[in-house]
Amino acid sequence: MISRRRRQLSSPVKTTPTYDVVVIGSGPGGEGAAMMAAKSGLSVAVIESYPEVGGGCTHWGTIPSKALRHAVQRLTEFSHNPLFLSLGRTRALTYPELLRAADDVIRTQTVQRRRYYERNRIQLIRGHARFSDPHTLSVENPEGAQEQVQARHFVIATGSRPYHPPDVDFQHPCVHDSDSILKLDYHPRTLCIYGAGVIGCEYASIFANLGIKVNLVNTQDKLLSFLDDEIADALSYHLREQGVIIRHKEQYSRIEGREQDVVVHLASGKRIRCDLLLWANGRSGNTGSLGLETLPLAANSRGQLDVNDNYQTPLPHIYAVGDVVGPPALASAAYDQGRFAATHMVQGRCDHGLFEFIPTGIYTIPEISSVGRNERALTDASIPYEVGHAHFRHLARAQMTDQTVGMLKLLFHPETLEILGIHCFGDRASEIVHIGQAVMAGKNGTNTLKYFINTTFNYPTMAEAYRVAALNGHNRLG
Ligand code: FAD
Repeated sequence: MISRRRRQLSSPVKTTPTYDVVVIGSGPGGEGAAMMAAKSGLSVAVIESYPEVGGGCTHWGTIPSKALRHAVQRLTEFSHNPLFLSLGRTRALTYPELLRAADDVIRTQTVQRRRYYERNRIQLIRGHARFSDPHTLSVENPEGAQEQVQARHFVIATGSRPYHPPDVDFQHPCVHDSDSILKLDYHPRTLCIYGAGVIGCEYASIFANLGIKVNLVNTQDKLLSFLDDEIADALSYHLREQGVIIRHKEQYSRIEGREQDVVVHLASGKRIRCDLLLWANGRSGNTGSLGLETLPLAANSRGQLDVNDNYQTPLPHIYAVGDVVGPPALASAAYDQGRFAATHMVQGRCDHGLFEFIPTGIYTIPEISSVGRNERALTDASIPYEVGHAHFRHLARAQMTDQTVGMLKLLFHPETLEILGIHCFGDRASEIVHIGQAVMAGKNGTNTLKYFINTTFNYPTMAEAYRVAALNGHNRLG
């Protein structure tokens, strides 16, 4: 637990020494900034309102959802593998039982992250921070005591939370968001997910693989439209194969919480009755209780802060990183943004920025990952390209691991052979994509298809998919 600094003293407000940097929030954005600043010799304090470090990422976002997903995937494999079926030992596990798989990972991650702070002599302060003036934060600890903390620089890394429309009753026991679903203590039979973004699709495949009947309501006309069309189509196909009913271009008109269940009334006239509604439609930046009204600084309607390329808000000594500044809203990007902000603070400049092509990792079952441009973007930009495919069912390694669903798709320039986009669907896609990402970043003409054609790959591996896709694409050139 984060130490509760000095219980309430006779004086109700205590002023601590001034720090070089005070970071608000200990998620990946705050951690990246704090570590970089501390390693550069600055005095750093991190204020966190949750009892443990790690942020939403560790406690109610990335880590628990991915650990749950991993447990569900293992169970699914076990239930379908003829080797284990012959043992006759498969048994259904319930959602709460599988959720527990995340506990150990969260504990290990928390202990590990806490050590980083200790080792780098970063002061952890437990409490809720709000600005009282541009250089002072008022921190209220869980006992209600106030402490004034001053600094030369601040980093706002307060993350985001699920958006709650005012006409949906989130107090109803059958209505959940992506935070409360991780505390669900029973196994529903039917579920409606409202919102088919990344989180909605990931949970659709998790629940469908547990045999729960899932309705996925999409407000758009296709799933995850930022993906390559072929990959998005493959996702739709496999979700449907898993039993998910996808309803495109729908909006809710009313959510009716009843005694035992909930009915989602759609504007199109349809009614979806389900044991449970998972609301996964939008997130808001955590700025509402930061005391921004005391500063010449305002958040937009989504609670997000505007920053420049150095992650400075319009008040240059106050930086903001991670989900609170909006897209891409990924743990990976948040950590780097924190490091870039601290570098700018220390050196007065930061020559690094997020790599032009940030990879996308979507942990549906099977998973999806891509980097670079997709076919639609290349066509819109009138950039000629050719395509190379490798289907996992043709790879010896995939046949051995029984993970034959999936493919790797390379998009490359037909004349220069430069790699323009990598799109992967299937087991370990989010790992596989990094091989191509490294090649794409190569300089002096090394970022081409030739790398995959001329390189000897271990055999049997999933990495071999690159050689197969490269040869497939190369053979198409006239
Ligand atoms: P957070 O991790 O949210 O941390 C913010 C911290 O600030 C919290 O600990 C909060 O308690 C604290 N805080 C807030 N206000 C105050 C205050 N006033 N005073 C003190 N402390 C405060 N990203 C990926 O890259 N890969 C994934 O697979 C992935 N899966 C996800 C799955 C789900 C279900 C969700 C919800 C998110 C997922 N994300 C994923 C996104 C990722 O979790 C976020 O992008 C990341 O956590 C953002 O980091 P952050 O540092 O900005 O904020």
